[in-house]
Amino acid sequence: MPTDADRSPRSDCLFCRIARGELPSQVVVDDEDLMAFHDIAPRSPTHILIIPRAHIPSAADLTEDDGPLLGRLFATAARIAREQGIADAGYRIVSNVGRWGGQTVDHLHLHLMGGRAFSWPPG
Ligand code: AMP
Ligand code: ZN
Repeated sequence: MPTDADRSPRSDCLFCRIARGELPSQVVVDDEDLMAFHDIAPRSPTHILIIPRAHIPSAADLTEDDGPLLGRLFATAARIAREQGIADAGYRIVSNVGRWGGQTVDHLHLHLMGGRAFSWPPG
């Protein structure tokens, strides 16, 4: 079971540094335990990242105790989708895990992507 110490902010983590305001981002939501900001290299007209403030490396590191946090991450994604006007058409929420999953930043994040149609399965 991870301890709080395992999840404390890391100075070598890009998204921990964004969460602490040490690096700039285009903030969409700034909450106590999570934040959302625009992806720096958007792959769709709307492309927003939602992250926990805690340093959780990926979805593979979640436990059942993280249920409430996960609920807030997904509820925030849904609220942002409504606010950004992409909810009615539909959108995609993605969390890449590991090298073959396409993960490049080792801090859990949801990609909220919308504004165009997506194919299935992803490439
Ligand atoms: P992933 O490849 O699933 O780990 O997603 C990482 C995402 O972070 C990519 O879509 C990048 O474009 C995005 N990204 C990298 N650096 C930044 C940054 N400084 N600000 C915002 N988004 C970033
Ligand atoms: Zn981190």
